[in-house]
Amino acid sequence: MDKNFPLKGFGSAAIHAGHEQDPRYSHQTPIYASSTFVFDTAEQGMHRFAGKEEGYIYSRWGNPNFTEAEQKIGTLETFGLNIEAQSILHSSGMAAISTLFLCNLKKGDKVLTHFSLYGGSDEILHKLFPDFGIEAVIIDLRQLDKVEEIIKQDRSIKMMYLETPANPTVQCVDIEELTKIGKKYNLVVACDNTFATPYLQQPFKYGVDFIVHSTTKFLNGHGTAIGGVLVGKDIEFLKTKGSKVHHLLGSNSNPFDAFLLVQGIKTLEVRMERHCVNAMKVAQFLEGHSAVSKVNYAGLTSHPDYAIAKKQMKHGGGMLSFELKKGLQGGIDFMNALKMCVRAVSLGTVDTLLCHPASMTHFGVPKEQREKYGITDGLIRMNVGIENIEDILADLEQALI
Ligand code: PLP
Repeated sequence: MDKNFPLKGFGSAAIHAGHEQDPRYSHQTPIYASSTFVFDTAEQGMHRFAGKEEGYIYSRWGNPNFTEAEQKIGTLETFGLNIEAQSILHSSGMAAISTLFLCNLKKGDKVLTHFSLYGGSDEILHKLFPDFGIEAVIIDLRQLDKVEEIIKQDRSIKMMYLETPANPTVQCVDIEELTKIGKKYNLVVACDNTFATPYLQQPFKYGVDFIVHSTTKFLNGHGTAIGGVLVGKDIEFLKTKGSKVHHLLGSNSNPFDAFLLVQGIKTLEVRMERHCVNAMKVAQFLEGHSAVSKVNYAGLTSHPDYAIAKKQMKHGGGMLSFELKKGLQGGIDFMNALKMCVRAVSLGTVDTLLCHPASMTHFGVPKEQREKYGITDGLIRMNVGIENIEDILADLEQALI
């Protein structure tokens, strides 16, 4: 594609951004399954190491398949915003989140975050980083007055970490208002945009510094590869400090997974549109069902964070959760009765995935502890896929006995 041709649509950018014409005219970028790259001369090697010449050296540091995915995601996170961003592809979402914390924080620093967070992010902040002198302050980030009060009182808070909508409760926090407060006190503000994707929500629009994704989810879209990405507006910082942490920890992706990610992103817009239409229909169906006591979906007016979601997201997203009146056994029976929808953790795939946290992901967590975070016995988390809606609803109907 001619790089000077200005793309007007997000969907076109998802398809074309980051793609370079292959020197051998392959339509798709070939998979560069090579751990190292060749220098024509010793001087060329020297210049690449010195940063005086563009070019690949070693696949832990960079590879053409990573570059294509990185440029595509950077373009989509900044699409229409008139800013530029740099991305670093990682082996997983958790690896990208680790780089984010490690390149921005040091011993004695604290991270302010919300109580509903993806389990791995919560665990790394509670179980791993405290040994290295980095701690988390966990509050309800929807109480904006409290947020400012806490930051004022504790000047060792150096970062605000947002995840919205959050896993698994789909709670939403106000990116714009929180970023305003964070910036007033010079905090680094970062946002996990995995559930929304840049198609539904662009945190850079509100001034956040960094975005992370588990690309395993909606960006890949087909459940074919684990991956993650760290995106930042400070290009120089990411090229130096960010890259250093990523390279030294060896958190690189691999060419095949990056290739799969690039193919997946190309259909992001059409997939997200369908995920959202289907999820809204499923949420409305569940709200009217006698076996269900509660539905958590950011697109429903009954959701406590509906106003926040409406302000910062194009639609309600593809994720929801709901509570079955029959509790733990009701959850197990429902999961066993599914005929088309898939029993599995993870999310963001074209097929509908459901999991029952109380008997699966949170099996070992004491009931009182998980219930504090809204994970009740009968809670079911659902990634609403892009199958035909009549089949999804028919499967739910027959399983909700
Ligand atoms: N962030 C969110 C919101 C997630 O849901 C997940 C995984 O489920 C992660 C981060 C971690 O991603 P990964 O499993 O790719 O390491």
